[in-house]
Amino acid sequence: MPDTQQAHAQLGTLSYVSPTPESPWGTYLAQVDRVLPYMGELARWSGTLRRPKRVLIVDVPIQLDSGEIAHFEGYRVQHSLSRGPGKGGVRYHPDVTLEEVMALSAWMTVKNAAVNLPFGGAKGGIRLDPKTLSMHELERVTRRYTSEIGIIIGPQRDIPAPDVNTNAQIMAWMMDTYSANVGATSTGVVTGKPVSLGGSLGRVKATGRGVFVTGREAMRRLKIPMEGARVAIQGFGNVGANAAELFVQAGAKIVAVQDHGGGLYNGHGLDAVALAAHVAQHGSVAGFPGGEVLGTEEFWTVETDVIIPAALEGQLTLARAERLRAKLVLEAANGPTTPAADDALAARGITVLPDVVCNSGGVIVSYFEWVQDFSSFFWSEEEINLRLDKIITGALNHIWATCDKYNFSLRTGAFVVACERILQARNERGLYP
Ligand code: GLU
Repeated sequence: MPDTQQAHAQLGTLSYVSPTPESPWGTYLAQVDRVLPYMGELARWSGTLRRPKRVLIVDVPIQLDSGEIAHFEGYRVQHSLSRGPGKGGVRYHPDVTLEEVMALSAWMTVKNAAVNLPFGGAKGGIRLDPKTLSMHELERVTRRYTSEIGIIIGPQRDIPAPDVNTNAQIMAWMMDTYSANVGATSTGVVTGKPVSLGGSLGRVKATGRGVFVTGREAMRRLKIPMEGARVAIQGFGNVGANAAELFVQAGAKIVAVQDHGGGLYNGHGLDAVALAAHVAQHGSVAGFPGGEVLGTEEFWTVETDVIIPAALEGQLTLARAERLRAKLVLEAANGPTTPAADDALAARGITVLPDVVCNSGGVIVSYFEWVQDFSSFFWSEEEINLRLDKIITGALNHIWATCDKYNFSLRTGAFVVACERILQARNERGLYP
């Protein structure tokens, strides 16, 4: 092999992305590098973690309501299929890039393995601003995207789900389009569908519920009383708002919130239900009458017990980590903490509950939905919430015990547990040919 080719093969350098230490794929690679020394013989399969199995970029042309033709860039990345079919959401956002979708797909691989679901990891996205499209345009773009990625998805191949700016209606269109193309109703091709179309009870609130349950367990271990605990949340979408509601029900108070529109502070606690209704009506927490206005950087310096980044990647930077006045970070978003910030938080003794466990409630209930669709037998919401609680606390306890034994951070512990499962499956399957 020529020298450069050999170097690329060994380092896992990819020609199609240029990650930086702070970018999503760069962050993911740094997280993987940290655990490879603990993989023993399995480390020879490290390339499996450092490069996605399959990357699909599609052109998504639609006719706008005006009659014009618009083109959008769509992606579906299957990072790993070693432990089962691909699984992971689809994101609609103007800043979506291939590199971001790759990192999100890899985090799905790790998440599914960390909580031991029989899935690999995948993610999709379309680079668009949904606010600029009508409902009909959104439907056309969803259907065309589904048709374009139809060659690699399916109930046994790869199962999309909601993510940022996608919801049950979009999943219904995806299911309908896929079903029309294969000539049979195929409910198991996506999860997060409306309950009337084979969706699962409890799925909409599942990610927020998982954030609350893992937070509750971590607070118990760290001896932070729930009653009166101060909680700050960045992002008040489906995940942030549902987690907030459960924290308030348990006796905590939401002292600060922030989203793309602005920030709010109320030391006595914001009314989480009224705030969620305000966001549903106005699209942002801005303008909610129950609190004082809080600046973007001020949000990260609020004195609080728990802080929950529930928005996008890379929000908790080194500068913010150095000024953070919280005891516990609950990563409700995917990849919110940069590697440098992670180190700073560890040095300051601030516990970080990593995304791959903290926000796994969504995909856990997606797994329940997929199982229910296959058996055409549907469970009660009570049963779903109980099983979710059991799986997520079981996974957290196992990871916490690993961390206590080897003195790892929770992220390293979660990655060690997950990567061992992924690489073991890869090793047992072997290479073809
Ligand atoms: N988008 C969610 C996540 O990031 C859920 C994925 C799924 O249910 O497949 O975990």
